[in-house]
Amino acid sequence: MEFIDLKAQYRALQPAIDAGIRKVLESTRFIGGGEVKELEERLALFVGRKHCVSCANGTEALQLAFMAYGIEAGDAVFCPDMTFISSVEPAVMLGAKPVFCDIDPDTYNLDPVSLEKQIEAVEREGKYRPRFVVAVDFLGNPADFDAISSICRAHGLVLIEDAAQGTGASRNGRKCGSFGDIATTSFFPSKPLGCYGDGGAVFTDDDEIAGLLNSFKVHGKGPKGKYDNVRIGLNSRLDTIQAAVLLAKLEVLEQEIVTRQAVAKRYDEAFRGQIQIPLVAPGSISAYAQYCVLAESPEQRRRVLDAMKAAEVPSLIYYPNVLHALDAFAPYEGDRALPNAKHYADCNFGMPFSPYLTEADQQKVIDTVLSAL
Ligand SMILES: *Cc1c(COP(=O)(O)O)cnc(C)c1O
Repeated sequence: MEFIDLKAQYRALQPAIDAGIRKVLESTRFIGGGEVKELEERLALFVGRKHCVSCANGTEALQLAFMAYGIEAGDAVFCPDMTFISSVEPAVMLGAKPVFCDIDPDTYNLDPVSLEKQIEAVEREGKYRPRFVVAVDFLGNPADFDAISSICRAHGLVLIEDAAQGTGASRNGRKCGSFGDIATTSFFPSKPLGCYGDGGAVFTDDDEIAGLLNSFKVHGKGPKGKYDNVRIGLNSRLDTIQAAVLLAKLEVLEQEIVTRQAVAKRYDEAFRGQIQIPLVAPGSISAYAQYCVLAESPEQRRRVLDAMKAAEVPSLIYYPNVLHALDAFAPYEGDRALPNAKHYADCNFGMPFSPYLTEADQQKVIDTVLSAL
C-alpha cells in the first residue's frame, strides 16, 4: 500500500502525461515552452485570479511574494506555529522576524484570536514593523479567511495565502489560491496538484505585483529583456516538462477533489468518536493533502503507529515539530506558549490517502487503527 498513490495516478493518466512530455522533448523548448504560458492561464482561470506566475517551487513562490511586496529587514511576519518551514523561511532569509501564532485545535489552522494577540504584542513592543501574515491551508483545509482578512485590514498587513497544500480546495465557493492579497502554491509531487519534480506558482489580481513577480523570477529583468536587469532577482522558472505534466493532471483535478471527499468521509465515519478527526468548516471543501487525526496522547499515538507498522500500513507524522522549537528559529524570541500547535505536533499522525486509495486498502487502514485504539 502506498501512502500517497502516485503510481496509480500515473497509470490512470499515462497516455496524456506521456504525450505531453514527448511533445516537449520533440520541441526541445525545455525552458519557457508554450505549455508554461498555457498552464498559467488555465490555473489563473481555475483559481479565479487575474494572474498566475509560475516558478521553480513553492518556497520560492513565497520568496517572490515577499519580494514583490518589498519585504525589509525588521519586518514582522506572522504565521502559524504548525506548518512547513517554507511558510516563513524565505522571509527570515530576507531579514524579517518570524512571529509564531497558535492554531485552532479542531481545524489545525491559524487561530485568528492568537494572531491578533501576537500582532498587538509586536505593535506594543515597537521593535519590529508588522507587515505580513501567512495563512496556510493546512493539510488542504482552507484557513479562516473571513476573520484573518479583517484582522489584516484593521492592522494594515499584507495577507499571503500559502496554498501549497490547498490546490483544488475551496471556501464558500471560492477556490484556494484566491484568498489574501497574494497567494502561493507548490507542485511538489505529493501535493494535491503535483508535478514530477519541483514547481510552484504565485497568484495575484494586481497587474503591478504580477509585473514585479515576472521580473524577480528572471534575474530582475527589465522591459528590454533578460539582459536588461533592473533589480536583483533570482532564477526561478517552472520548466516546460513540469508544465506539461501539470496540464494533464489539471484535467482531472476537479474529479480528484470529489473522490478525495468520498475517501475522507469513509475515514470520518469510521473514526468519529474513536479518535479526533480533522474538522472542515461548513462551506469549506478540503483538498485533503493529508488526512491527519489526533491521538489523545503521544503514548496512544506510539501504540497506533506501532500497530500500523506491524500491519505494513504506511503512516506519517505531519509535522513532528512546532516551528518555534526548531533550532533554525532559536535566535528569535517571542511568546512560545502555543499549546494547540504543540498538542498537534505531539499527537498527530496521517494515514494513507489519495483519490486512488482502494476501498480494500482503506478498510485495512481503518481496521488496523481501530484495533490499536
Ligand atoms: C510544500 C510546502 C511549501 C513549499 O513547497 P516546495 O515546493 O517544497 O518548496 C510551502 N508551504 C507549505 C505549507 C507546504 O506544504
